[in-house]
Amino acid sequence: MNPPTIIINEDHWIAGVQRDPIATSREMPVRRCVVNHFTGGATGTSSIGAMRQCGVSAHVVIDRDGTITQCVPFNRAAAHAGVSRWRDPKTGTLYTFGNTFAIGIEIANAGSDPGALTWARKQPGFASIRARHANGGAVLEWECFPAAQIEAVTALNEALVQRYNLDDVTGHDCIAAERKDDPGPAFPMQAIREACGFSGLPEVHRA
Ligand SMILES: [Zn+2]
Repeated sequence: MNPPTIIINEDHWIAGVQRDPIATSREMPVRRCVVNHFTGGATGTSSIGAMRQCGVSAHVVIDRDGTITQCVPFNRAAAHAGVSRWRDPKTGTLYTFGNTFAIGIEIANAGSDPGALTWARKQPGFASIRARHANGGAVLEWECFPAAQIEAVTALNEALVQRYNLDDVTGHDCIAAERKDDPGPAFPMQAIREACGFSGLPEVHRA
């Protein structure tokens, strides 16, 4: 299967993908990195509903089959990162509160959530690993990300880095390591970073 071609329009929406807009009040004039997340839930649609109910948001949600849904245009701030820290690897500048500079991608995946794993195990193609998170904790079961989903995630990270000249691709568990475990040990972070022109793993920041 060929990876999807992603074109980002002048209005900061991806061409030709489905939209499920979540209104946000703030502009995001500066974009510096992509933060990848897992939803810790069932379908992408169910997680968009849950985000709306909780008053949070991400720019894009990517389902297990690679379906992309955009919720927030890339020139508006989405509420996905919360209290967090990130050092720009190109300039050395330390930033806090990722929502003001980071594009957020939510990836439909159970993570290690027992309830979500019970749902995910019943889906065709389910696979999981047992691993300890790099940030510590017990050895847990983590849902694997299907190939079609990772192809879409990789293509979107690449398209965003190119379009906005971003300096980093990271994860929520790297910018808020003291409280977050997503996208976790099953996520091929290094391979996605390499596809985007970066090397190794992201710097990990704790409060
Ligand atoms: Zn997250």
